[in-house]
Amino acid sequence: MITDHNGVIINVNKAFTQITGYTREEAVGQTPRILKSNRHDAAFYRMMWTSVAEKGSWEGEVWDQRKGGEIYPKWLSITVVRDAHGDILNYIGCFSDITERKAAQEKIEYLAHHDPLTSLPNRLLLRDRFTHSRELIRRTGRSMAFMFLDLDHFKRINDSLGHRVGDDLLIAVVKRLRSCLRECDTLSRQGGDEFILILNDLEGKESAAKVAGKIISSLNQPFQIGIHSLNTSVSIGIALAPIDGDDFDSLLQKADTAMYVSKESARGTYCFFHQSMNDQAKRRLDLSNCLRGALNADQFRLVYQPQVFADSGRVFGAEALLRWHPDDRAAISPSEFIPLAEEIGMILPIGEWVIAQACDQARRWRDDGLNCRIAVNVSGVQIYRDDIVATIQRASRSAGISPELIQVELTESTLIEDSILVHDAISGLKAIGTSVAIDDFGTGYSSLAYLKRFRVDKLKIDRSFIADACFNEESAAMTRAVISIAHSLNMRSIAEGVETPEQLAFIRQAGCNEVQGFIYSQPLSTTDFLKFANLRKI
Ligand code: C2E
Ligand code: MG
Ligand code: MG
Repeated sequence: MITDHNGVIINVNKAFTQITGYTREEAVGQTPRILKSNRHDAAFYRMMWTSVAEKGSWEGEVWDQRKGGEIYPKWLSITVVRDAHGDILNYIGCFSDITERKAAQEKIEYLAHHDPLTSLPNRLLLRDRFTHSRELIRRTGRSMAFMFLDLDHFKRINDSLGHRVGDDLLIAVVKRLRSCLRECDTLSRQGGDEFILILNDLEGKESAAKVAGKIISSLNQPFQIGIHSLNTSVSIGIALAPIDGDDFDSLLQKADTAMYVSKESARGTYCFFHQSMNDQAKRRLDLSNCLRGALNADQFRLVYQPQVFADSGRVFGAEALLRWHPDDRAAISPSEFIPLAEEIGMILPIGEWVIAQACDQARRWRDDGLNCRIAVNVSGVQIYRDDIVATIQRASRSAGISPELIQVELTESTLIEDSILVHDAISGLKAIGTSVAIDDFGTGYSSLAYLKRFRVDKLKIDRSFIADACFNEESAAMTRAVISIAHSLNMRSIAEGVETPEQLAFIRQAGCNEVQGFIYSQPLSTTDFLKFANLRKI
């Protein structure tokens, strides 16, 4: 577009007509004011013309209006043309329609701040919103809750039913979460099955607890995803600002810590952050550091708990149980350090050590005339990340025993996680003669389907059932059912944690094959075990 020195249009090109909708005839003789959208105030145009006057040009984004009324963004540059004396002859306006570029830019902007699957704000945008909320609570003196949400067992659903179902479940979860929130709250997805929720302008702890309770019961209802009816639950950790701090990262860390505590105590609950949790987290950190050096410092021992036949009470085997005696502190329970060792990967070398020790022990006992099978606990991590079959072959060969003298105990949660790897491991073990038992049977996701898929040799009935069996008819019925499943599928059954004569009578009567528990013996040192076994020899 070319104007004269007064700003009257004297010529335009075809592109001008295409963009603005005005023909050459309509435009010539008018001023560029016909293009104005009223989106900019007088000051904007003043600034534009001052720049043209002073520098001879201006460039920038302008919102104009097409002939049809549509307002659009354009990129405009204005240049002055002067004659030899420096007097203005013309202004040349050169512009392009940037509607699409702007839309793309907005899209990029959106993508940078949102999760593509659920369209929820991501952490970047959350941080931004957090800053606003913090300003608000500083002014009003009210509170803000920072919640860390993690779906329980999501990985299992994702792995077994596929990512499509997993994605659809996440979308459905978000829909329910939204229905529990107010306009001013911010829900954000951290990736995977983790969400962060900022609740603004709260009166205090009770209001946060109320919302958390509402979320938990809402997500507890089953989800219908395609043909699947899925059950999930959520674990929530809550930190409060300003009591627990008022910067994003420390609140995030505290809510995360609280979430872990709630997950560990019982899934599907919420938990407020408390300073003692940080102490606990410190203890864990401290323990993991010690754990890394424990193997080299020779701080592990195995103890052996006798396993006996239910009818005769004669010993046929032992379960090897790991004990850790750190130098400068009291012994730590395997229930505490095993999960930690799994988390930091130390379970692999530790697990290998356990197997090697057990094999050596089996040989020594054999040399002492005791033919006794040793059951070792094998963590899921060893199945997924290690070649358990090769490890047992190596250890038994170097000890000079048959792999048949070793039995592997797997927990139910191991079986459910990754079927192909587990399937291969179990058939590999059976191929070399090592038998497999399912530990703590009945506490995980007992599924009859996997008993068919994985041909195991033995079910260990969890001690919580045994503990209740004598005074709770349901536990008794469950125990009888497990024993009868085992027998119909050609497996052995063993009752764990038998402590009283009543329990022993019950499981005998129910037809259980084997017993392990304090009624016969606590876990023993190797010499004590030998003495015990010689009294009750096969
Ligand atoms: P688990 O494999 O189910 O082992 C049985 C646990 O029950 C042992 O606890 C044992 O001492 C205890 N127990 C046995 N009889 C009775 C009884 O009559 N009453 C009661 N109340 N308890 C009884 P422990 O030694 O503390 O081990 C706990 C868990 O730690 C084990 O449970 C096992 O899951 C894990 N664990 C132990 N050693 C190893 C290991 O070498 N590797 C792995 N991956 N896990 C291990
Ligand atoms: Mg066990
Ligand atoms: Mg057990």
